[in-house]
Amino acid sequence: MVDIIEYLEAGAEARYDRMAQPGGKLKCGCGKIFDPEKEGGVPSPNPYAMPVCGDCFEKCLEDVKMEEILRDIRKERDRQDKQWGEAGHDDQHRQEDWTEYITGFANAERGAALDFRARMVSVAALAVAAIQSHDRKPEAG
Ligand SMILES: [Zn+2]
Repeated sequence: MVDIIEYLEAGAEARYDRMAQPGGKLKCGCGKIFDPEKEGGVPSPNPYAMPVCGDCFEKCLEDVKMEEILRDIRKERDRQDKQWGEAGHDDQHRQEDWTEYITGFANAERGAALDFRARMVSVAALAVAAIQSHDRKPEAG
């Protein structure tokens, strides 16, 4: 029986060998040849993850930031549900109500005590709530 760790290590080594280029350079999955001493990095804490070029590494960092933002919006959405009640409350609002709430937060007429980022998270979470409500009653248009 093959030890799972040996199997994973052998796979990672084979992948690394396929990436290896002359002069210590590596070929990224995107096709770019890069010098790992000068750019890029390993985009995942997975010990078998392969290094990627600087462009792909930047993209991974952007993806991580995006995930954080979406998590913040989700958290705010959950908080709104706890504060106001869920679908039963939301579905009493008309489309004009939603746009009023959203523009209120966008213009700092509502949530004036919040900083810009927190207000934008509220705007996004309210937009999600509006879409959810809309999708529950699509006949409203
Ligand atoms: Zn790349």
